[in-house]
Amino acid sequence: MIKVGVLGLQGAVREHVQAILNCGEEAVVIKKREQLDEIDGLILPGGESTTMRRLLDKYDFMDKLCEFGRQNKPMFGTCAGLILLAREIKGYDQPHLGLMDVIVERNSFGRQVDSFEADLAIAGVTDHFNAVFIRAPHILEVGEDVEILAKHNGRIVAARDGHILGCSFHPELTDDLRLTQYFIDMVKMQKNVINSCK
Ligand code: GLN
Repeated sequence: MIKVGVLGLQGAVREHVQAILNCGEEAVVIKKREQLDEIDGLILPGGESTTMRRLLDKYDFMDKLCEFGRQNKPMFGTCAGLILLAREIKGYDQPHLGLMDVIVERNSFGRQVDSFEADLAIAGVTDHFNAVFIRAPHILEVGEDVEILAKHNGRIVAARDGHILGCSFHPELTDDLRLTQYFIDMVKMQKNVINSCK
């Protein structure tokens, strides 16, 4: 059995918790940095990345989250969560966590389409995934070791950098558990690797 945390400072926290439970795994809402020691993988939800960053600073999460990522524990950023993970954010001097080797652009689908749904093929997951985009970012560039998992109209909207997964959309807002399950499988596999190294 694995424990998956959902960063619980702001955003679509409950929906991710429910998706993890629906996959049959244990979910923990992470509100304090010490709780990161209890979990095998972490979801950073969608919401508003600048607000989340303010709260991460306020509750002294930043170094502990970076350490979590450096221990190769799996992390999954959805929408604002992807922005938090990115190595670079277009138009900004500094990234937030900078753990995923991608460059992202915020709110990149234009103001006139604040939200929309699209049918996506996601490599290793499915050829048809109904993805919900809300004031979504997209990935402009990926590093050498990053696998592109999905594109929408030529723009990268899901990618994996080793133990770090990121997507522009909100998988937790539909009943489709397949991307959450993909992340859970990453967490299970990584837990076996970490245990066999002990
Ligand atoms: N536009 C938001 C941001 O920049 C992300 C939107 C979302 O998470 N749905 O943080």
